[in-house]
Amino acid sequence: MPTLWGYSISAARSIDYDKNDPLFRRWLAIASPSSQLCIGCGGCTAACSAGNLTEFNIRRLQMLVKRGESRETAEQLHKCMLCGKCLLVCPRGVDTRQMILSMKRFLREHDQ
Ligand code: SF4
Ligand code: SF4
Repeated sequence: MPTLWGYSISAARSIDYDKNDPLFRRWLAIASPSSQLCIGCGGCTAACSAGNLTEFNIRRLQMLVKRGESRETAEQLHKCMLCGKCLLVCPRGVDTRQMILSMKRFLREHDQ
C-alpha cells in the first residue's frame, strides 16, 4: 500500500490545441495574415487604451481565438476603441486593428 504524504500529484494540466475548434483560428490566419507573426510579448496589452480602463486584454483575445472560444471573444471585443495604439508598439508589425476588425467580421458572419 502506498504511503500517504498529505498531498497528491495533480494530473498534467495542458492545453491541447488540436482538440479545439480550429475554424476561428484558421479563418483569422487568412483574413489577417500578420496575426501569425505574434510572439505574445504583451506590448499591445501594455499600451492598450481600453486595457487601462477595463479588463480588456488583446493578447488574451488572441489566445481565446486559438482555443476557438468565440463566445468569450465576442464578449470582450466591443471594448476595443480601435484607437491603434497597439499597432504602434508591436515589434512584429502585427496589424492588430485589422486583426480585431477581422475577428468582428468572423463573429458577425457566424452569428455570435
Ligand atoms: S505587441 Fe505584437 S507581438 Fe506582442 S503580443 Fe501584441 S500583437 Fe503579439
Ligand atoms: S486599438 Fe483596441 S486593442 Fe489596440 S490599443 Fe486601441 S483599444 Fe487597445
